[in-house]
Amino acid sequence: MWKVQLFKLNYDNKEIEAVTEVLESAWITMGQKTRDFEAGFSSLLGHDSKCLAVSNGTAALHLALLALDIKAGDEVITPGLTFIADQNVVTMVGATNVLSDITSRDDWSMAPADIEKKITDKTKAVLVVHYAGFACDMDAICDICKRHNLYLIEDCAHTPGADYKGRPLGTFGDVAAFSFFTNKNLSVGEGGAVVTSDEVLYKKLLGLRSHGMSVPSFDRFKGRAISYDVEIPGLNYRIDEMRAALGLVQLEKLEVANKARQKLVLHYYERLDGQLKINIPFRRFSRGNPNYHIMPILLDDSIDRLHVIESMKEDGIQTSIHYPEIQEFSAYKDTVNPTPIAQYVSKHELTLPLYPTMTIEEVDLVCDALIKGVS
Ligand SMILES: *Cc1c(COP(=O)(O)O)cnc(C)c1O
Repeated sequence: MWKVQLFKLNYDNKEIEAVTEVLESAWITMGQKTRDFEAGFSSLLGHDSKCLAVSNGTAALHLALLALDIKAGDEVITPGLTFIADQNVVTMVGATNVLSDITSRDDWSMAPADIEKKITDKTKAVLVVHYAGFACDMDAICDICKRHNLYLIEDCAHTPGADYKGRPLGTFGDVAAFSFFTNKNLSVGEGGAVVTSDEVLYKKLLGLRSHGMSVPSFDRFKGRAISYDVEIPGLNYRIDEMRAALGLVQLEKLEVANKARQKLVLHYYERLDGQLKINIPFRRFSRGNPNYHIMPILLDDSIDRLHVIESMKEDGIQTSIHYPEIQEFSAYKDTVNPTPIAQYVSKHELTLPLYPTMTIEEVDLVCDALIKGVS
């Protein structure tokens, strides 16, 4: 149906073999593959990171809030331009979202000055998202959190392989949450990771992930333990071995895949720079190395976005929007504060296809259809 779709999996025989090997091993949940994946992902991040693989990115965010004991009566400062999972988990623990705006129509990262303005006596934590793998200003944000004694949570769903001034994203917050959903840079279908370098938080997260149990089934299977205690109430946010095995293969491919994304994005820049009605965010980005998670553009005020989407669709090009206005969702419209710059971006943003196996010719097809659509 599509000539160029928004995203395609970067899978080959390696993924098939990895899953087959697990199926033949007859141990299919949280075993050696999960441990190997956690070790591999921890070492990708470095800085004493301890990684726990979980069912998905939303579970990772939920665990982060639970581990930090964020609850009713607390306020959490969350991004004005993000996937709604950030606001949903805050709501689900009974806390209140206070939205913080992005910096400008060019820099879509949370503005440190606006975060600071939103702090009240009730603020317990700041939750940041590194949009499209472009790092927030972590020097400024860490400084704010330190001065106001607030927890810092990083939504790292977009960030595997990206850094802030050379230091991997996901190593700045008290806790970081990663997603390995299908269309993310590291893709296993449904999966995620919660990461911390704090030993106490790590132990708490371990319990919260699996019913508060002190000893995992794998250790009882291995004869290392007979029974278990339940130390705190917990959930089941475990991952299975098939997806941990996919994660190990994807982890190996990550660097090359991110390089391929970069090359495609540079070609997009070459084609679209100077196009009057098309603006590209983060073009002067200098806070670190992004991982080019998605290819967002900002259409001029004068452009009817729906018309562009329809016109590109007719040409066989799939597009998306990252993200709709939080203030327009039925569940949030009466409860959240305005974020004027993020709301402007939500109204005019368009996401173009991007995935590691995309070709330069496909980028050209997208650009031709886009330029036609806006003219
Ligand atoms: C994908 C995503 C999530 C949620 O991850 P899931 O694995 O789909 O639960 C959260 N935040 C952002 C910014 C995301 O892109």
